[in-house]
Amino acid sequence: MSFLKEFDSEIYELCEKELERQTNHLEMIASENFTLPAVMEAMGSVFTNKYAEGYPNKRYYGGCENADAVEQLAIDRAKKLFNCEYVNVQPHSGSQANGAVYAALIKAGDKILGMDLSHGGHLTHGSKPSFSGKNYQSFTYGVELDGRINYDRVLDIAKIVQPKIIVCGASAYAREIDFKKFREIADEVGAILFADIAHIAGLVCAGEHMSPFPYADVVTTTTHKTLAGPRGGMIMTNDEDIAKKINSAIFPGLQGGPLVHVIAAKAVGFKHNLSPEWKEYAKQVKKNAKVLAEVLIKRGYNVVSGGTDNHLVLVSFLDKDFSGKDADEALGNAGITVNKNTVPGETRSPFVTSGIRIGSPALTSRGMKEAEFELIANKIADVLDDINNTQLQAKIKEELVALAQKFVIYNQPTY
Ligand SMILES: *Cc1c(COP(=O)(O)O)cnc(C)c1O
Repeated sequence: MSFLKEFDSEIYELCEKELERQTNHLEMIASENFTLPAVMEAMGSVFTNKYAEGYPNKRYYGGCENADAVEQLAIDRAKKLFNCEYVNVQPHSGSQANGAVYAALIKAGDKILGMDLSHGGHLTHGSKPSFSGKNYQSFTYGVELDGRINYDRVLDIAKIVQPKIIVCGASAYAREIDFKKFREIADEVGAILFADIAHIAGLVCAGEHMSPFPYADVVTTTTHKTLAGPRGGMIMTNDEDIAKKINSAIFPGLQGGPLVHVIAAKAVGFKHNLSPEWKEYAKQVKKNAKVLAEVLIKRGYNVVSGGTDNHLVLVSFLDKDFSGKDADEALGNAGITVNKNTVPGETRSPFVTSGIRIGSPALTSRGMKEAEFELIANKIADVLDDINNTQLQAKIKEELVALAQKFVIYNQPTY
């Protein structure tokens, strides 16, 4: 800690400020979490110095014996965690992992079918500004006005499109994803089924969400969202042929040297995920999100799909005279960080939107439970009920900073 302070006071001070921001604000962005100091220590370890292009025991550099052991441990723990046969822990991010899946399994110009970005899908599921929408012919399915995927509709679309790959998984979908139904759809049209569990992986590995195995041919995830590990990606499969293609697509296809320090941190994160406490954490994440949805509904807010099965709640303001952007800003002033989000039946632009997405993983990692979530949900409703009242926002912020400070993130920061 003092090395940084002594050598680079500017970055040190920004780390201090960021810790203060994370401590004093209520972090409710559904894709964020707080990782363990042990994970951060591994990320800051000597492995950042090591080149290890290739895979364990098949490297292009010497001196990889410890890197081999680290990567093998990460792979073995991930296999146990998700109950699958083959894992690649090298993707630098979730998007890189998804890029490798397409590169491994289809050709440029082939058809992919994924969930519409504005309905909760991810950029890398075929959205036009992303490589996935530029390099492939992309088609979309979405949710109905009730906020849910209608699997019969997805099948109808798949029959017309005849995609090579069907992508399932989302960034802003509060309901359980039925991988078995997606498997049936993929089988009917002869498509590869690709499940992206970036958001829900921490619930899946705890048995708190249906697993994509044995249904999906290939599965990707991030390691930093509900999994609460270091920032990064991962690819899993039970098919040896797919596994070989994925490995070549990651290296030498898309990436160079793996981030061995991050792979070490992924292994530490998986140890956390394999512990008995993790199951309790995942259960609590869901309980807390449920309380959030219930209170907001009771307070007259339109929760998309009428509730949640996972770690997030999507709130629609289509029936209100303010936007998602207005709500995001007002809640920010009150010390609550969320993000604006498009909702089913959206009438505003993606920069304004008519909704917000609120998640429970980060505050649950700080130790908050139903009582705190009930209180916070009521504060959210108080802010939204009187959205232009900046005095009220300032007052609520004071109360929430006091609450936040009772739930320590790091006893000993490791930056
Ligand atoms: C977050 C997310 C990703 C991308 O992860 P990055 O690490 O930000 O590249 C991919 N897919 C889904 C569904 C996500 O939610």
